Amino acid sequence: MDALSPNAMQLLEQRYLLKKNGDLMESPEAMFQRVAEYIATAEKDNQAYWAERFFEMMSRLEFLPNSPTLMNAGLTGGQLSACFVLPIEDNLEAIFSSLTKASLIHKSGGGTGYNFSQLRPRGSDAGRSVGPASGPVGFLRVFDEATRQVKQGGKRRGANMGILNVDHPDILEFINAKGDGVSLQNFNLSVGISDRFMKAVEGGLPWELKNPFTKKVMQRVPARSIWDAIVRNAWESGDPGLIFLDAINRRNPIKNGVITSTNPCGEVPLEDFESCNLGSVNLSRMLQQEKGEVQVDWDKLRSVIHTAVRFLDNVITVNHYVLPEVKKMTLANRKIGLGVMGWAEMLIRMDIPYASEAAVQLGSDLMKFIQQESYLASGILADEKGVFPNYYKSRFFEKKKMRNATCNSIAPTGSLAIIAGTSYGIEPLYALSYTREGILGNRTQYVLEPVLLEKLKSSGLWGSRTRKLVHDTGSLAQAGWIPVEIRKCFATSQEISWEFHLRHQKAFQNYTDNAVSKTINLPEKVSPEQVEKIFRNSWEYGLKGITVYRDKSKKEQVLNKSCGL
Ligand code: UDP
Repeated sequence: MDALSPNAMQLLEQRYLLKKNGDLMESPEAMFQRVAEYIATAEKDNQAYWAERFFEMMSRLEFLPNSPTLMNAGLTGGQLSACFVLPIEDNLEAIFSSLTKASLIHKSGGGTGYNFSQLRPRGSDAGRSVGPASGPVGFLRVFDEATRQVKQGGKRRGANMGILNVDHPDILEFINAKGDGVSLQNFNLSVGISDRFMKAVEGGLPWELKNPFTKKVMQRVPARSIWDAIVRNAWESGDPGLIFLDAINRRNPIKNGVITSTNPCGEVPLEDFESCNLGSVNLSRMLQQEKGEVQVDWDKLRSVIHTAVRFLDNVITVNHYVLPEVKKMTLANRKIGLGVMGWAEMLIRMDIPYASEAAVQLGSDLMKFIQQESYLASGILADEKGVFPNYYKSRFFEKKKMRNATCNSIAPTGSLAIIAGTSYGIEPLYALSYTREGILGNRTQYVLEPVLLEKLKSSGLWGSRTRKLVHDTGSLAQAGWIPVEIRKCFATSQEISWEFHLRHQKAFQNYTDNAVSKTINLPEKVSPEQVEKIFRNSWEYGLKGITVYRDKSKKEQVLNKSCGL
């Protein structure tokens, strides 16, 4: 079992390791054993062999499945998936039935996304019910409040994605809904954008807002006015993000399937009632020394990918589904999302700056390899265990056998990266030293980037002057005494131009059949015009979604650069 950092131990003890009457009942090693053995029960033969392979890969921190799998595998009724999408239909019973379902999913450790565009606008005739309709934002608040009250098995709070399409009459209210900085704290909001809307913005054309119930045009406004409101709010508070529905549906593997929403952090577009389980390869552990140079260990990566795809597919087989509708949809498509974490750390270990052509190229090569090998692995599983039931309705039919309708997603790895002691998903380092707020409001942790310490110590550059500067500023930008090549490799999120943030997202998205969770982190002083450019480019690049975050634009942010605490 590889060593875990004190932060990882603390997180595991608080939320992952089994407890009885408050006393710990297992070690991290026993947790991985529990997970490995349970996931291997999906195998007809050689269960002990597969349990050992799964255990090795997790205990060496080379691969970790999403949090619900770590927390719940092997427990009675253990729900193992992180990502869900539920329908929101335009009648009171259906809305509250979805709310009940969302609460059950949250309680079991999952996060839910929904598109509220079918709801008739605020103030319109609500038909059978009394009084005028509350509209999408009114119901978002109900879902938000319910989420606040339901902790995920007492371990963390549920996360939600709320989407409203750009032609809904309440779109401006939705765009402004989080502007006060206190509302809808358990929601990420995204505007559902169509290509037609983007062309209307570009052409300076009018845009129609339609009542989804009566189909009547309620208002005609300049497309630009909506666009400007989106940009302004995203600049001010980080919300809303954009989700590009046409890009998503063009690449939907199921021919007649319709996707209107993603899971909470955007990395998995799903049909209504679908769920997906994720896992991440720790790239910082996929390296080898070759003639004094640090290089990607492609053979090791290949082997981990194949075992991980098998693991994630097994999760679908042995999962406990809290809702019959979800069970039906999930077993029909068998979607999995294998992604990465530790990308920034990998680059640092290879002495490649994040903001460089070489990094973007490597990201592209790497994800291409991961996708190809995942598809190969899914094909091998299809031969052994059969194709997914909707295969005959999919784009793969008669081309390539597949066990899973999708294979790859890049998750934020908000907790997994802490457990593995590496950088988040494909994000650059946020800061070289920072404080992190616990998600359930427990104590603030101070983090000094371990890879910085290791690299600078080994080159004899770690001294009191550097330590003080990093502690005071969270950065090496002003460390004139450190060679510029080294400083470039440690450039932090806000020191990296948005162009490079976006190009990394694009490089990974090009070879990710689901989507990529990435935040374009920006310095406080960035202008709304720059945010607009980022949004436009993200559409032109064919991305499936985009989120920006300008430093200090939320009252409470999870990560804070260290500034001499
Ligand atoms: N998620 C959730 N609640 C949380 C964090 C995450 O429901 O507090 C879900 C959500 O669907 C998100 C997905 O888990 O998109 C993956 O998030 P992340 O990679 O950060 O989770 P981890 O596995 O690291 O806990």
